[in-house]
Amino acid sequence: EKEAALAAAAAASTPLDSPTIFDKIVNKEIPANVVYEDDKVLAFRDINPQAPTHILIIPKVKDGLSGLSKAEERHCEVLGRLLYTAKLVAKQEGLEDGFRVVINDGPAGCQSVYHIHVHVLGGRQMNWPPG
Ligand code: C5P
Repeated sequence: EKEAALAAAAAASTPLDSPTIFDKIVNKEIPANVVYEDDKVLAFRDINPQAPTHILIIPKVKDGLSGLSKAEERHCEVLGRLLYTAKLVAKQEGLEDGFRVVINDGPAGCQSVYHIHVHVLGGRQMNWPPG
């Protein structure tokens, strides 16, 4: 009974906190086309680009931030860093005419990797509303 309770607790807590493919990218276990890196964040080209420029920006340490909906007060600094890096990367990519920043959250938001990430899309006219 105790074992079953422990297993249930593990099953309930594992999915969002477990490592994702983005940890492997941070740890250089799988390659990525990195465009920016500092001690806190990593930015790399999306493997399945939805625009001529499509970059993902992630915190190197997830710290429970599987998605924006899991944000706590302690994450404010890294959340700001992610957005500021979006600006740096957009400039580096020459997106002078504008660009789109997206954070997908949860199933209804079409999130597929549960390690928070900011999408930077540009190099074409973006449309509104998004799909
Ligand atoms: O917001 P969402 O979770 O759907 O975005 C995940 C993104 O990560 C996708 O755009 C996908 O193409 C990208 N990806 C990647 N490299 C991987 C796995 C996913 O660029 N190895």
